[in-house]
Amino acid sequence: MTWHVLGAGALGSLWATRLARAGIPVRMILRSAQRLVDYQWAGGLTLSEAGHASLHAIPAELPDAATPIQRLLVACKAYDAEAAIAPLAQRLTPNCEILLLQNGLGSQQAIAERWPQARCIFVSSTEGAYRDGPMHVVFAGHGQNWLGDSGGGNAPAWLEDLDRAGIPHIWSTNILARLWRKLALNCAINPLTVLHDCRNGELLQHRQQLSELCEELTELLTACDQAAAAEDLEREVRRVIEATAANYSSMYQDVRLGRRTEIAYLLGHACRSADSLGLAVPRLHELHRRLREHLSQRGLPTD
Ligand code: NAP
Repeated sequence: MTWHVLGAGALGSLWATRLARAGIPVRMILRSAQRLVDYQWAGGLTLSEAGHASLHAIPAELPDAATPIQRLLVACKAYDAEAAIAPLAQRLTPNCEILLLQNGLGSQQAIAERWPQARCIFVSSTEGAYRDGPMHVVFAGHGQNWLGDSGGGNAPAWLEDLDRAGIPHIWSTNILARLWRKLALNCAINPLTVLHDCRNGELLQHRQQLSELCEELTELLTACDQAAAAEDLEREVRRVIEATAANYSSMYQDVRLGRRTEIAYLLGHACRSADSLGLAVPRLHELHRRLREHLSQRGLPTD
């Protein structure tokens, strides 16, 4: 069974290179003919890990290739994922599986609704990777991948491929709780690091603000039937801030580098979910407004 990997960015390359070096069939799907030329020129994907670089000549193709797709790993940003799958729709087999690596929530549900014949597996990853050149990925931080099917169902047999490839993974029977928890942590920490222009640790000087946000996020998670994800949220937020005190958040780094953020699938999703439930979350809305204003002033998309 071939793994088709859509998006040769940081995480897509990290998954593809580990699968390929374990001898598992992988094909990259790139967005344009120019990207394919760049890819062929580079000779494939280079993975840098613990100071050692290795080149992997993984076959690559364009979305309009003819071969059917049984298993698709979508490694685009949340705002690109649905549009990136659309040109592949004719190639998806009736019982195909789509693994969604996107951060936040909202993009996964949109994809699951649009392609109901597919089994959509949501993934929450704490692994870290970044691109330091075209077709070159650096494995920056070991972590974990939780995989789960929001529609229920058993763990798939192909998790063995991940074992063989050394990709850490845990099958989760409540993947939505995990994604909501991560989203809540992100909403409490990341926007404030952008607005206060600071490292994570400096947020401990804004305890009152953190505490008020955690209160609203806890109400929201509970209203969304995610009480388990809401448990001890404020304490977990403080723990994460302390453990990552010297780091700049991913959103901070995106803004600093002039890159589009995934705000619509993080704080934006939290605000939309509250609105649809008729739940008042004034502090989250105010944070969302200020963050969007900040992005707009820097010429960055606010969605
Ligand atoms: P990334 O490096 O920007 O990679 C995204 C890739 O998607 C790019 O190569 C982009 O191609 C490609 N793409 C976009 N539209 C496409 C299309 N229509 N067809 C084909 N390819 C397309 O992003 P990332 O850091 O890997 O993040 C991917 C997701 O994983 C995000 O939701 C992120 O939050 C999540 N995540 C990332 C990490 C991490 O450490 N990087 C950790 C946890 C979760 P171009 O190069 O042509 O633009």
